[in-house]
Amino acid sequence: MFNNLTQRLSHSLRKIINKGRLTEDNIKDTIREVRKALLEADVTLSVVQTFIDNVKKKAIGYEINKSLTPGQEFVKIVKNELIVSMGEKNNSLNLSIAPPAIILFIGLQGVGKTTSLAKIGQWIKNKYKKKILIVSTDIYRAAAIKQLQILSKQIEVDFFESSTNEIPIEITKKAIHHAQKKLYDVLLIDTAGRLHIDQKMMDEISAIQTLSNPIETLLIVDSMMGQDAVNMAKIFNKKLFISGIVLTKTDSDSRSGIALSMRYITGKPIKFIGTGEKLTSLEIFHPERIANRILGMNDVISLIEDIEDNVDQSQVQTLTKKIKQGHNFNLNDFLIQIKQMQKIGGLNYFIDKFFKQNSSSQNISFSNMDKHALNKVEAIISSMTPKERLQPVIIKGSRKRRIALGSGTKIQDVNKLLKNFDDIKRIMKKIKTGGISKIIRGIKN
Ligand code: GDP
Repeated sequence: MFNNLTQRLSHSLRKIINKGRLTEDNIKDTIREVRKALLEADVTLSVVQTFIDNVKKKAIGYEINKSLTPGQEFVKIVKNELIVSMGEKNNSLNLSIAPPAIILFIGLQGVGKTTSLAKIGQWIKNKYKKKILIVSTDIYRAAAIKQLQILSKQIEVDFFESSTNEIPIEITKKAIHHAQKKLYDVLLIDTAGRLHIDQKMMDEISAIQTLSNPIETLLIVDSMMGQDAVNMAKIFNKKLFISGIVLTKTDSDSRSGIALSMRYITGKPIKFIGTGEKLTSLEIFHPERIANRILGMNDVISLIEDIEDNVDQSQVQTLTKKIKQGHNFNLNDFLIQIKQMQKIGGLNYFIDKFFKQNSSSQNISFSNMDKHALNKVEAIISSMTPKERLQPVIIKGSRKRRIALGSGTKIQDVNKLLKNFDDIKRIMKKIKTGGISKIIRGIKN
């Protein structure tokens, strides 16, 4: 579902990712492409406008984060805006109510309402081990009641029988009474859909809603309907109280725009997505995960997250400043640097990512450094005198022996560390401006 949007967005964003500077021009170009990608994915025009305005505002006035490149910062802004537009954190189902917790399923005919009810019934059963009852109030099609009965057997959940001779409100009343008497935790009510929205359907659902006072009313929406689904949801939302949306058939060739528009237009969260015909083809809708899927730049996104979560900004900034001011890179700095890099996935990860083409860097022997090796480095440096740390050149034979003894290591280990220090110092010299933060941000010199 998200393939097309993903391809277009990542194509435009990759162009800006390594820009050292965000200028009005390159922001403008990228924003134009993002806008086009969203419109082609069938995102509602007003939503695209708001989205673009927000990204523009944030990109122009963005706060410089010392460890991200401006390009990475821009991708982060787009990602955050995607999350906001889809509803930030997932609101799973609210079942915290005196039983039975009633969930009403509403929507047009053929959108996947009955299938979604069975999928969600099964999900609740497996996740919460609740006692569940399901009922159909679709008196217009005998086949609809039968279909739900068959599904209830498949998911091994109790079914409350109803017939086309009854009226929906009576069926609802009886089902609630039965659920109370038999101590069911959850009652799922299927309602009748129509091919188009009509007053009779709205009145009927409204009466069932008033009588049953559901904790959740889920509007089922077919993602293949694109913009029509958004318009339909808008009307349902105006006339009835809706607590959330289930987006079905996302495995189909549908455009992804609908996932972005729904929350903006209705103000209601998408709670689940249907991903296939099978009863297990259901996913909880996590805006952040979907935003990552839409952006499709897993490498870039994970790096941004790693940097933000793990790197100690103040240490990086102090070190960068020192190096910029021509401060002599010493073993204390070396230790800080290794620790920071360890935090963002180890030096191997870092070197692979940024220095692939730089053959001399690939040969650095500490690229396989693990936690144990880092402890060793720390022990060796701790056994040095302050003077030795600041001027490692003075570390010769007898000093090496003393340091190895003090740190419980071998002279070869001390030699190796000093060699690695020289290697990294060479790299630091090459990267004159930006220092460590530039390395961490991934700019090749
Ligand atoms: P209802 O009339 O709204 O109750 O719709 P149904 O539940 O009967 O579903 C209509 C059709 O859509 C059926 O053939 C379902 O198998 C199919 N369907 C429902 N959800 C999905 C989904 O997430 N993916 C796919 N591919 N098909 C789905």
